[in-house]
Amino acid sequence: MTFKDFNFKANLQNSIDEAGFKEPSPIQKDAIPVILNGKDIVGQAQTGTGKTAAFGLPIINMMKGNSGVEAVVIVPTRELAMQVSDELFRFGKSSGMNTATVYGGQSYNMQLRNIDRSSIIVATPGRLIDLLKGKKITISPSFVVLDEADEMLDMGFLDDIKEIFTYIPKERQTLLFSATMPQAIKKLAQNILVEPEFITITKSEVTNSKISQSFYVVDEYERDDALIRLYDFKDPEKSIIFCRTKKEVDRLSTYLVSQGHSAKGLHGDMEQRQREEVIKSFKKGSLDVLIATDVAARGLDVNDVSHVFNYHLPFDSESYVHRIGRTGRAGKEGTAVSIVTPHEFRMIQKIQKTTGGKMEAKVVPNINSVKVKKTDSLRSKISEQKVYDSGIDLVESLKEEYDLSTIAHKLASILTNETYVKGNNYIGKSQNDIQRLFERLKDDRGDRDSRGRGRGGYRGGNRNSRGGNRGGRSGGRTGGNRDGNREGNRSSSGRRDSRRG
Ligand code: ADP
Ligand code: MG
Repeated sequence: MTFKDFNFKANLQNSIDEAGFKEPSPIQKDAIPVILNGKDIVGQAQTGTGKTAAFGLPIINMMKGNSGVEAVVIVPTRELAMQVSDELFRFGKSSGMNTATVYGGQSYNMQLRNIDRSSIIVATPGRLIDLLKGKKITISPSFVVLDEADEMLDMGFLDDIKEIFTYIPKERQTLLFSATMPQAIKKLAQNILVEPEFITITKSEVTNSKISQSFYVVDEYERDDALIRLYDFKDPEKSIIFCRTKKEVDRLSTYLVSQGHSAKGLHGDMEQRQREEVIKSFKKGSLDVLIATDVAARGLDVNDVSHVFNYHLPFDSESYVHRIGRTGRAGKEGTAVSIVTPHEFRMIQKIQKTTGGKMEAKVVPNINSVKVKKTDSLRSKISEQKVYDSGIDLVESLKEEYDLSTIAHKLASILTNETYVKGNNYIGKSQNDIQRLFERLKDDRGDRDSRGRGRGGYRGGNRNSRGGNRGGRSGGRTGGNRDGNREGNRSSSGRRDSRRG
């Protein structure tokens, strides 16, 4: 199936071609025909699955181009407002559809002027209700979209949204999109939609198989070291590191910068302008690493994010899916790396159960493996390097003092300095450790069950197993750490060799 099968108007089809969209995504395949039929829909699909175009394309196709606002899209955050607005503008401009972006913190006058000129507005709930309540605008759109409805609920916008609909005439088509479908969303849909069709893209279609997922097991105090080591090893072009708290974001961005990386933090306490700047430079590529909280990075659409790092696992599996969905976008490959302690094993199991995806347990690479990798890339850099006159001149002048092989060795040494790897040789748990720790988890469960504790006692069991991890049987880091089985460890001359320290 291609986009041509929807029989969109020629201008719109041109914009789709220009955007390079060829095949509609699953949610687009299912939702577009129903929307074109004039029905209300509730669409459930994870982030990164192309929901914007799923509602944007059919709406633009059906818009008449009369004066006045014909479509309103309500989104949870300013970042998303700008992003969705950009995407809709891209598709609408050749059909003459202007887009206004409406959010708090901007001058009313400018926004009102923009709204005046536009047929589509993309708004956050707070500012939209301000404008409607203050009678600054009156609208009777034919299309209303609630995008990322679950997120809006989480952010406490439910009442605002309900109120917004009291200002919008009933003759309209209403579309609601959400990554998850909690009861409150279903109820909201019942209230503001008319006989909606539910379109759900199931997990297997959602979990992007082009994202490889792995986790590394460490002790709590090793998190920072593990992050830097993994970062060095993976050498990502563009990546996001997820944290649980703003404080952690601040601390880690300072730390990464001190390690020579081009990194910046992104969280809700930052000024709007600051956040926009950070996102802009990240999109542009002048910033390599973004360190973010879940909320700040929700729905963020940056192409070419090669890696997502979870410094901590999130508290729920939905957030995990959101996070890793920042990579592997638009059909590209992506890598998701999580750093966990044994305390987080249950979360790992939960995530695997919800996503149906496979997370592979891996061992943090030791210094030598990172060096080997860095040397390899140095080699290919050298083989690809063109010879410049300036290089020839330098060698010529050095030849007055040294023979050629000395010169070569000296120059190479300058380069190999870059392959210096910091930190302890061994970080985190070995493959054997990890296996034992997981077995331990199962045993513990069995113990509890056989002693006839009910479900209520389960939490207790959980706590005990944590205690057990600290104990000797599973081999803490001192014992288990060095028993081979490490990525790259075996290729070297032996264990605990001179490379240490
Ligand atoms: P969601 O709202 O579901 O999180 P987006 O609408 O932001 O997803 O889309 C994610 C990315 O995929 C965007 O960069 C978008 O331009 C791109 N995209 C969407 N649909 C297609 C498609 N059919 N073909 C190629 N790229 C697409
Ligand atoms: Mg979206």
